[in-house]
Amino acid sequence: MLSRDVVFNELGIGPAWRLRETPAAPLETPDSPLSAPGYTWDTLAEAVAHCTACKLAATRTQGVLGVGDHNADWLIIGEAPGADEDAQGEPFVGQAGKLLDAMLASIGLARGDNVYITNVLKSRPPGNRNPEPDEVTACRPYLLAQIELIQPKLILALGRFAAQSLLDTDEAIARLRGRVHQFQHVPLVVTYHPAYLLRTLTDKARAWEDLCLARRTMQGL
Ligand code: URA
Repeated sequence: MLSRDVVFNELGIGPAWRLRETPAAPLETPDSPLSAPGYTWDTLAEAVAHCTACKLAATRTQGVLGVGDHNADWLIIGEAPGADEDAQGEPFVGQAGKLLDAMLASIGLARGDNVYITNVLKSRPPGNRNPEPDEVTACRPYLLAQIELIQPKLILALGRFAAQSLLDTDEAIARLRGRVHQFQHVPLVVTYHPAYLLRTLTDKARAWEDLCLARRTMQGL
C-alpha cells in the first residue's frame, strides 16, 4: 500500500505528489570487476575513521561510513556528508535526510530495515562544495567494500553526482533516470537528490516515478 500523499504532506515541505504510478569522476566502470580489499565491517569502519587518503581528512570532523542493515537488499547512495552528517557521523540526518526517510516510507521502507544508506564520499567537502576527482578515487575502495559486504539486490543512486560517478558517465540526470542500469550486475535506479527536491518541488513527481520503478524492479527480482 503506497502512502505517498500522507507521508509528504506530513513533512509540510510542499504539495502532495500528484502523479499516479506510471509506468564527475568515474567510481568504477560499470562492467569492470570490483577491486576492494578484503574488508570486514570492523576493519572498514576503522579504516574510514582514520582515513587520510585525501585532503578532506584535514577539514572533516569524522568519517561517515554509512548506516543501516548490513544485509540490506536496498543500498541507497548519496553524494557526501554535509554539516549535520559530519557532526553526527551518520548519513542523511539533516533536512534532506528527513525527506529521504519520507521517500523511503512512501514505498514501505525504513532506514535500517533492509536498507543501507551511504555516500560516494565518506568525508565532508568543506562548504559542501562538489567532490573532486581525487577524492572520489581515494574513497572508491570503501564504497566497493560496502557493496561487496552487503551484496545489495538494488542500488538507488541519489542525485547527479552519485549517478554519474557510479555509471561513469556525464549524462544528465534527466536522461539517466527512468530506466534500470546495472552496476556490477546489481540493478541501479537513479533519482533526484532529496536536497534538490527540497528546492525543486516540481521534480518530486518524477522522483516518485523513480521510486516506483525501483520498487517494481525489486519486486521483479
Ligand atoms: N547529502 C548527501 O548526499 N549525503 C548526506 O549524507 C547528506 C546530504
